[in-house]
Amino acid sequence: MTATIIDGKAFAARVREQVAEHVTRLKTDHDLKPGLAVVLVGEDPASQVYVRSKGKMTVEVGMNSVEHKLDADTSEADLLSLIDQLNNDPEIHGILVQLPLPKHLDEDLVINSVAPEKDVDGFHISNVGLLGTGQKSMVPCTPLGCLMMLRDHHGSLSGMDAVVIGRSNIVGKPMAQLLLGDSCTVTIAHSRTKDLADVVRRADIVVAAVGRPEMVPGDWIKPGATVIDVGINRIERDGKNKLVGDADFDSCAAVAGAITPVPGGVGPMTIACLLANTVTACCRANGLAEPEGLTA
Ligand code: NDP
Repeated sequence: MTATIIDGKAFAARVREQVAEHVTRLKTDHDLKPGLAVVLVGEDPASQVYVRSKGKMTVEVGMNSVEHKLDADTSEADLLSLIDQLNNDPEIHGILVQLPLPKHLDEDLVINSVAPEKDVDGFHISNVGLLGTGQKSMVPCTPLGCLMMLRDHHGSLSGMDAVVIGRSNIVGKPMAQLLLGDSCTVTIAHSRTKDLADVVRRADIVVAAVGRPEMVPGDWIKPGATVIDVGINRIERDGKNKLVGDADFDSCAAVAGAITPVPGGVGPMTIACLLANTVTACCRANGLAEPEGLTA
């Protein structure tokens, strides 16, 4: 079997188009313009790249983009005061604090200081609780993107066996909740899981969110299963820098029914879902119908 490649880049472009259409409608019908504020503390090079591309894409879909760049030694009080200001700004519908934060800042405290309805990352404890109890919430962008691709590929996920490898708060756990919400039978695997290969072999859907280059080989994959590879790992091969996922692409693609590549799979969907969440937050804040297909 040779797997269908799920093209996350093309899918993300379609999501951004849908967001842009909705933004246009909000402007013409309601004179509203969704606004996303991104807060970056310090000068982590990877974070700077992410923030730049988030800002660029926000503007491309017609929304307002506001960036706040703070010094690495910014005090917690100053950061919380900026977040409070953004929480109370009616032109701002989404707030994202770029992680990781410098060590002297309490990440949980900062995340939970963002107004839940503006928490487009879906990390606030209220959103985590709402998602866990099957209520309307802001859904973390990476798992939301994975869910959209799975729904697009399979239609209904009901009754499928899903294994999520990784139990982080930003990917593994919310991914498992979303799959459960779509009536999959869900197993969450992690570093202490026994016989991981056997656990993964049961799965119709495998979501790998570990951060270990190519750790899932093809002989762990049930023939015809769908592999969603969240991992982003930089390795050196043949003297070149290369980006690889958590799945060994070639051997998995030979067995799976469908697979997301790295790069060009889950990655592009994450920013597209951030934009989708911002437009959703704007609609909710103004009591308007949410864009269809852009939420969980
Ligand atoms: P974390 O480091 O927070 O979590 C990794 C998880 O993998 C942990 O639950 C850990 O288990 C588990 N794990 C580690 N080693 C093993 C092992 N040998 N077998 C089974 N499970 C194991 O990572 P994140 O969730 O933040 O990210 C995961 C990957 O996804 C990374 O490569 C990251 O770069 C990528 N990523 C990609 C995004 C995108 O947009 N495409 C967005 C976010 C992340 P335990 O809890 O027991 O330690």
